[in-house]
Amino acid sequence: MTEALLTPTLSEAIERTRAHIAEIGRLLYERRLTDASGGNISVRVGDWICLTPRYSGSKRRWHLQPEDVLVVDLDGNKLLGEGDLSRESKVHLRLYREFPDGQAVIHAHPQHVLVFAVTRQPIPPVLECTVKFGVIPVIPFAPAHSEALAEHVASAIRGQEARIRKQAAAVIAPWHGLFCIGKDLDAVFDAVERIDTNARLILQGRALIGADAFTQAQAALLDAVAGAH
Ligand SMILES: [Zn+2]
Repeated sequence: MTEALLTPTLSEAIERTRAHIAEIGRLLYERRLTDASGGNISVRVGDWICLTPRYSGSKRRWHLQPEDVLVVDLDGNKLLGEGDLSRESKVHLRLYREFPDGQAVIHAHPQHVLVFAVTRQPIPPVLECTVKFGVIPVIPFAPAHSEALAEHVASAIRGQEARIRKQAAAVIAPWHGLFCIGKDLDAVFDAVERIDTNARLILQGRALIGADAFTQAQAALLDAVAGAH
């Protein structure tokens, strides 16, 4: 494939998106929302997907230049960029094919979410600003980079289409990390950070007042939010 497939307008949108993805990658890493071992970021632009390349963390520590971001079609055929597709690109492409309202996907290893991933605990909302994500579920285990992982992520997102349209929907892959799809890249980055903050507050809140009292506090949040509507 060649760049000649792109109109000037599409080409400009793709270049803006590649720069945006590079910036969000740096922020994810700086804010410990992912680590050097992995994660990947993608955005849909028309029929094209802009996607971080393999080794963005381990070899570049998320200091990507816009031109490092690959541009592929929905089947993963590369149009622009050097290097291999990220190994979790199967999940991204699967989500774009199944959820047309999803315009951006982040897979990350956020430091507090990982505690829930390794203990296989779902993350209930404990902040007013995370109620809209519902309880973040834990999907069944499938090895990293497998088709089965893509299938488990997609089936747990199914039914959450309204959340994608509003902001984002997320799932936890056990012993691994978070997958989040949403209406645009800013919305998905915001969701990943809110979910990680929410995870930290659960850990600290349970330590502060005990698990039972904390569960009551969480139920009170849901009552308060429901009562306000
Ligand atoms: Zn990962």
